[in-house]
Amino acid sequence: MPKYDRNFTDELRERLSIVDVVGRRVPLVKKGQNYWGCCPFHNEKTPSFSVNEDKGFYHCFGCGEHGDIISFVMKSENVDFKTAITELANQAGLKMPDYKPKPAAQVAREESYYQIMNAAAEIYQKLLYEQVGAHALEYVRGRGFSDEMIKHYRIGYAPKNNVIANKFINVKQDNLMATGMCRHGDYGMYDFFRDKLMFPIFNARGQIVAFSGRSLDGSEPKYINTTDTELFHKRKTIFGFNFARDAIHRANRSIVVEGQIDAIQMQCNGFPETVAPLGTALTEDHISMLCKANRNIVFCFDGDAAGQKAAARACDIVMPFLRDASDVRFAFVTGGKDPDEVLKTGGAVAMQKIIDNATGLADFLWNIANAGFNVSTPGGRTQAEKFIRQKTDKITDTSLRNEYEQEYKQRIFNQWHKWKKQSQNIPRIEMPGVDEITKNTVIFIVNKYPEIAERYGDFLATLKIDFDANAPEISMDMKSAEKYIVSLKLQKYMARLQSEKKDLTAQLLGGADVGEQIAVVDAKISDVHQKLDTLISME
Ligand SMILES: [Zn+2]
Repeated sequence: MPKYDRNFTDELRERLSIVDVVGRRVPLVKKGQNYWGCCPFHNEKTPSFSVNEDKGFYHCFGCGEHGDIISFVMKSENVDFKTAITELANQAGLKMPDYKPKPAAQVAREESYYQIMNAAAEIYQKLLYEQVGAHALEYVRGRGFSDEMIKHYRIGYAPKNNVIANKFINVKQDNLMATGMCRHGDYGMYDFFRDKLMFPIFNARGQIVAFSGRSLDGSEPKYINTTDTELFHKRKTIFGFNFARDAIHRANRSIVVEGQIDAIQMQCNGFPETVAPLGTALTEDHISMLCKANRNIVFCFDGDAAGQKAAARACDIVMPFLRDASDVRFAFVTGGKDPDEVLKTGGAVAMQKIIDNATGLADFLWNIANAGFNVSTPGGRTQAEKFIRQKTDKITDTSLRNEYEQEYKQRIFNQWHKWKKQSQNIPRIEMPGVDEITKNTVIFIVNKYPEIAERYGDFLATLKIDFDANAPEISMDMKSAEKYIVSLKLQKYMARLQSEKKDLTAQLLGGADVGEQIAVVDAKISDVHQKLDTLISME
């Protein structure tokens, strides 16, 4: 057996949720602390197979099978350790290592990186309270940061001159450069961050892996981050996560906001479960991390077009991570404000209101489809249906995917095909029977030309026809189809008038004074005759 790097299997266990891994094969339902499903290792009808997300293991109370993500893949797919690891690495988006323990040199190198980052934070923190950082301190206080918050988040100031390059003059230059804190120029090393308000970025273990610097002179971009390094991968790092982790557990949800200042203000003003991506769009890695902590997420975006777009993207990414116990919602901060401003003007109460009004995922997706396509036309509805289908197809939990599909099928029927619904609900008036040929022709027309169905929906709804039935293909262009429906409508109307006339005539014979009413019906009949003639002679 080859030597497998313990760090790598640990990383897999850290990156992948056992609920996701098992959930791909076994539908799981959350009950209490655990997820439950029918055991894939023995035959059973009532679930006795439990999965514990926090501890990362599964256990079957029926047959005693027990293990983690790796043993699950090995046993359920009957593959060896290496194949299982490779598959899991794929799921986690990790490259397979060459199965060697981390060399001592690398461990030492990483240790040196963390030391550099920590020392840099200390320097910046100190400078914020010196003369050189006065404008930065004024700015950050102006944004509502207390000294306590500044200390807690280790906010600092990077001056215009080289402080990091000078301080670490004796450190191996390669290491310093590898942290992204310094670069090489014509005159030697220089600091990457200059005249910036500095926010350290922590990994989940609370070690500083990067910095985010905010410009203080109004220059763009507003924020620059450390470029990706061995320690720091922007796509895989969530700002504030190290501070929020326990709170997410307690609150049984996370809140995702767009900016890091928003995240800090939220954390300090009643929403400690808040995090933010790092000035970049949300990635699968971000969602994966959050879902590992908790599957209930409230995305809180700006109400503008960009915010809507970001929300749509989040909706897309979150799909594969949904479980039946997930509650994913979308909140929008309107009026051109961001959460920071809401908290300042309305306090936690105003923010709570926005969070409480968040739209659930199913409704949100439905809203995007309705806003993005012209659902009053058959073409638009087709596109919208396709769009919804693409999203729900991404749900990996089979039973949940079915639930979503049913839900949207209902909505499409009830809201987009109102006439079909009418046809189901209105009491059927006993009209002179529709013969088989007419029935098949109408069904064919309705399915082939939905526009016509929409236009004459009120009439079609009165026919005793099951429009979802299959009808043989006929050759009929749209114009003839419409003529057919109109003439059918007129004929039905005529039949009704005639039966009305018959009733009246019977009354007349019985001595009733209904001559005038008969004349009215006669006029209507002659009018319908004329219309039918015109219709038939129409090219
Ligand atoms: Zn079992």
